[in-house]
Amino acid sequence: MFSDILGQEKATHYLQKLVHEGRVPGALLFCGPEGIGKRKAALEFAKALNCEDYFSRQNGEACGACHSCLAIEKGTHPDVTVVDFLYQARLNLKDNSDEEELEKELAKQQHLSVDTIRNVTAKAQQKAALGGWKVLIIDQAQTMQGAAANALLKFIEEPPAKTVWILITSKRAMMLGTILSRCQPLMFAPLSQAHVEQLLHTHAPELKDPSRAAAYSGGSVTGALQAAQALSLLEEGGFGSAAASMQVAAGLSRTAATARKEAQAVLDVLITALHTSWTQADQTHRAALQGALDKFATYKRSIGRNVSPALVLETALMSLDGLDIKI
Ligand SMILES: [Zn+2]
Repeated sequence: MFSDILGQEKATHYLQKLVHEGRVPGALLFCGPEGIGKRKAALEFAKALNCEDYFSRQNGEACGACHSCLAIEKGTHPDVTVVDFLYQARLNLKDNSDEEELEKELAKQQHLSVDTIRNVTAKAQQKAALGGWKVLIIDQAQTMQGAAANALLKFIEEPPAKTVWILITSKRAMMLGTILSRCQPLMFAPLSQAHVEQLLHTHAPELKDPSRAAAYSGGSVTGALQAAQALSLLEEGGFGSAAASMQVAAGLSRTAATARKEAQAVLDVLITALHTSWTQADQTHRAALQGALDKFATYKRSIGRNVSPALVLETALMSLDGLDIKI
């Protein structure tokens, strides 16, 4: 139900209103940080539009128990498609692969390709198998580059009746203006620390200190999970000395893209810690902490470029020598 999506009342009320009134734009764009419920909201919306229970639909909700709601929950509804890197990896392998191959293929995905977009636009053209709404969800929509984005354009501009596209992005600025101008935007807000903590209890019950992870989360569950991993890397290694810094850098993943994300998460944790120290420091220590914060902003930018994340991280951690910061 929409009420299960914590902290996004404004967005979910809007979606409920659309279901209730039956006036749905051809293309919606869900914007906001990763890990705050955008994809869950898209699926709830698909359920509510297709729900077999008339009274639930009248309230703009899904019953959660009918054939259609259950099929969407399981990912088997013929008229609801979620396109993401996993979908693309399966397409690339033509579904003929074991778990290990799929995992490898998934790790390679960086952009949604033109072939993937053509696959889903072809689906959009077919008649709805169950006669309800066709819902086509594209997650990480910012990863569509020129050709893929252009292949989508005319389909989101004039979708057939009872068809809705939902593009999901955490990086709206990276999307083409031509796509943005054809979508009705819907903003999702970062979550409160308390909501992140509450969600961690359900989504990551194995996490030792959800409250601490939530404090470093930046208002998202994904952020909290990344922070938890960064905190454990920092606790096993440390910072300030060369040996400790090298140990943290050596703990990064072997896959470049993953290592980059992990290194960024470590820097984010330290930026939060530096900022906390800065607010509590007296005048004599403030300048040094401010200098460190400026340097960390530069390190973060370098990690985004083609520089070895391990090397940048090591340099960053060593630069904290002599500073009084606690994580
Ligand atoms: Zn239902």
